[in-house]
Amino acid sequence: MVKKDAVVSLNYVLKNDDGQELDKSSADQPFAYLHGNNQIVPGLENALEGLAVGDQKEVTVSPSEGYGEHVPGLQMAVDRSNFPEDMELQEGMQFSAEVGGNNRVFTITGLEADKVQVDGNHPLAGQTLHFAVEVVGVRDATQEELEHGHVHGEGGHQH
Ligand code: ZN
Repeated sequence: MVKKDAVVSLNYVLKNDDGQELDKSSADQPFAYLHGNNQIVPGLENALEGLAVGDQKEVTVSPSEGYGEHVPGLQMAVDRSNFPEDMELQEGMQFSAEVGGNNRVFTITGLEADKVQVDGNHPLAGQTLHFAVEVVGVRDATQEELEHGHVHGEGGHQH
């Protein structure tokens, strides 16, 4: 059963409100994560609690339980001089920066002569997420996995 510190393997498809497919697990390997460790969005994690292998579920996740509301204030122009001089900047490039004590991933959305447009919203911020999930595996985490806080082996990290 899916519970805290279980290693859960999923097949999933993620769609937006328009029914457009945004993401899915790879066909040859399910996605594996450590349940109860904030590795997936809270709305999905909560909905999976208590499920068993073979269970399928449609889960709708609001932005606040997903990738957050879209915050216009996180879209800004910063001086090119804030970036290392030898760094070749490109649209779509991501970097992390601290904002109000939290580490946040920013994406470069535009380049001008001496300004860089960046967006600290997650690409899926503000979107209602529609997941179709199937639980294909549940096992206890190993001690090492619990210490690292992530899954090793198939579908997980290799370290
Ligand atoms: Zn590890």
